[in-house]
Amino acid sequence: MILVSACLLGHKVKYNGGSNDDSLLQAYNVQGRFVAVCPECFAMLPVPRAPMEIQYGTGRKLIEGRARAVDADGHDLTASLLLGAQKILRIAEAYHAEVAILKDGSPSCGVHRIYDGTFSGRKIRGAGAATELLRQHGLTVYSESDMTEDRLRQLIEEDIRRDSIRD
Ligand code: SF4
Repeated sequence: MILVSACLLGHKVKYNGGSNDDSLLQAYNVQGRFVAVCPECFAMLPVPRAPMEIQYGTGRKLIEGRARAVDADGHDLTASLLLGAQKILRIAEAYHAEVAILKDGSPSCGVHRIYDGTFSGRKIRGAGAATELLRQHGLTVYSESDMTEDRLRQLIEEDIRRDSIRD
């Protein structure tokens, strides 16, 4: 199975109560190869919630204990971000997932870039906490912007092949 950020599949789990609908991923969701995941929901953060950013680094530094996550109201949500990442990893292991497609820009799901922790709209290179933890455990993580229809079809075919070998 392929993990996909739930907000990309139309689940209204974003901090503002909306979703990040991705028409390509939604079209292929009917094939039943995606597991919708939202690290921040699995950390039991509410919807809606204040936006959150990582300060002093990226997901990697957060996991190493050298950065922290705060929301726009100043609450420290580092423990929640780490908990959400750990829960996503457990789901990946349960489904033998080797690939994830996650929403870029998020402090949890960001793949190439995340916000810089100043709540000013600026982004820096780096991944969110869930993406980083999945990568550290061998998963390949793409963002929605990495996906073309050909690449997505290929990932789904490879996923089906892996499952048939395992069975
Ligand atoms: Fe989407 Fe990930 Fe944010 Fe959940 S944590 S709303 S899945 S980007």
